[in-house]
Formats: sequence, structure tokens, C-alpha cells
Amino acid sequence: MRVVLVIILFAAISAAAVSDRPETPFKLATFEVQGRPHSPRLGMVLNDRILDVNEAGDYLLKKTGRKSAVMLPDDMRLLIERYTDTIFVHPVDHPGGRELTAVYARRLYEIANYFHDKKLDSLPFAYSLDTVHIAAPIKYPYNLLNMAANYWTHAREMGVNKDVDQDRDAPFIFAKSPRSCIVDPGAPFYIPEGRDRIDWEGELAVIIGKPAFHVPKEKALDYVFGYSIMYDVSDRGGRKRKDAIFQGPDWFSGKSLDGAAPFGPFIVPKEFMTNPHDIHIMTRVNGVVKQDGNTSDMIYDVEHQIAYMSSIMTLYPGDVISSGTMGGVGTARKPPEYLKRGDVVEISIDGIGTLKTPMKAMSERPK
Ligand code: MG
Repeated sequence: MRVVLVIILFAAISAAAVSDRPETPFKLATFEVQGRPHSPRLGMVLNDRILDVNEAGDYLLKKTGRKSAVMLPDDMRLLIERYTDTIFVHPVDHPGGRELTAVYARRLYEIANYFHDKKLDSLPFAYSLDTVHIAAPIKYPYNLLNMAANYWTHAREMGVNKDVDQDRDAPFIFAKSPRSCIVDPGAPFYIPEGRDRIDWEGELAVIIGKPAFHVPKEKALDYVFGYSIMYDVSDRGGRKRKDAIFQGPDWFSGKSLDGAAPFGPFIVPKEFMTNPHDIHIMTRVNGVVKQDGNTSDMIYDVEHQIAYMSSIMTLYPGDVISSGTMGGVGTARKPPEYLKRGDVVEISIDGIGTLKTPMKAMSERPK
């Protein structure tokens, strides 16, 4: 959807002194700085630093002698919604006005191109990554949808012995509540009393970039904003219902525990991660590798996931698809392995980062 805003600029938009093309890869984050107002902030990760995007943008304009009415949003979901917006401007030297496309994306490209080879230590808006709190990148998406058994290695270890044709068959989807399930990187997962079969599932998170309804698979990747990491915390026990009405497996109880969707730390825009089907993904528990796979193992690729989900409901900018996990989960091991208080799950995806989740007992949760 194209949004047109009319903005009067009081200064000429001169030719950009810095390239506004996606030449310098970056990651995006939502972060908080202790003692700073207006937290959380939108951040750009360059090397080992995180830049406050708004302040970096102001600095860049000052350094290049420009003024602009375009303010980058502070909120990740708003940024995603506006990323490729077209704005109609009336520069003083261009009385008829003109259109500027993808202004927010181009401002970010400029920031990355300008700052990537600068010395950042002395800049007050460039923080060392270990001095800030990295939050879940989107708080909160409208929708969080999950793919069940979507890697061949995982489907086989769970006993699937038939073939699937992604053009003929339909994936199995379940939903988690974004507000109740998404937690920050590093935040503990509190194991509820009596749940002794909590498992790991490391997953590539696909972030939707624009409203998607009835999208054909050939165009599906146009609707992606970028990629991140999600931990689909799964309880393998207690999912079989015994009541008289519903006796099948209880996906809600097994997948929607409070805090069961650790998310982050970063989002990589898709222009810097052009092939979602050749990405190395790994899960470690207490430093021991448990899952080691590649997204090329997916049964339904990202295009089919978006085409199928959008055939049923509208996906919105910032919505997250957790695209399934690969082989090596605890419950399929012989003997089965489950998580306990004190364990630490780390999910790493090449090019994105590592999502760390310590396990704690519910009794340790702050009241
Ligand atoms: Mg999963």
C-alpha cells in the first residue's frame, strides 16, 4: 500500500551527499538505555555498536547541511509500516513538488553508509552493545503464527513417514498470543509447576512488511520485511485432553505458555538476507549443540507459508511467522531430554545473532 503524505520543507532537499542505496548491511533492534528518556529506542546495529537511529539521523543531516521534515519513527512496527512509503514534498526550489519513494528505508541506508567507517566511540548516540538492554524487536506484532513440523529432519524424527507436496498439501499452522508469549532476549522462561517436558525449538522468524491478503506464492517474498530469531518454547506433556468434548492434542496448552516466544535480538532487513532458504541455524543447550540445520530443509518454504496464511487471513506489517524447527528436539531423543531450572538455551542464526533464554522455576518469577 502506498501512502502519500504532503510535507512542506523549509529548505531545499539538496542532492544527497551520502549514498541512499542499501550498500552497507545493518541490523535493527529495539533497545533501552538506563536513565535515558523515551526508552525504548529504535537502534541500528553496525559492527559492535548500536546507534540510536533518530539521533544518528539528526547528526547526519547536520553534517551534510540538510534539513528534512522526515522523522524516523521510534517504534519498530511503525518503521516497518512506513519503510517503503512514498512522500510528496514541496521543496522551495521545486515549487511543483515531487515524490520521494521509500524515504524511511533510504534514510536508514544513508545512516549505515555514513557511519559504518566512522569512529563511533565518542558519539553520544552510539552505544556499546553490552551496555544497553536489547528488547524483543517488535513489541508487539498483531499476529504471531507458527509453522508445525516444517523441516524434514524434524518431521521424520517425530514419526512422519509420508511425503508432502507443498503445492498440493497445506501446512499446519498454530497461533500464539504475541502479548502474552513474546519476551525479550535474555529474559528467563519460567517453567510452570508440573510441566516437566519443556523442549527447545530454534526457528527463523519471518517478519511481514506490508499487508498481505490472497498473495500468490510467486510474489510472497515482496511482502517480507526481514528475518529474526524465535524460540518456540514447547511443552510435550499434558497436551492430550481427556474431557468428553475435546480429546485430541491440546496445542494451546502445549505451545502458548506465558513467555513461550522469546524473540530477537535483531531483525535483518531482507535486502541484506536475500535467500531465506539457505541459512544456517543452530540450537545449543548449556553450550552443547542440539540442533544444527539449514533452512533449505523446510518442507513449506517461506513463499508457500505466506501464500497459505494470507489465503485465510490478512497479515499485517510487523507480524511474525515462526517458520518451524529442524531435527534434534529433546523429545525425539533416546532417551528423551527436557529442560530444567538452570539450563540455558541459545539459538544462533548466521547473519542475525544469538537468542539466549535461561530456564527458571515459576517460583522464582517476580510477583
Ligand atoms: Mg516450532
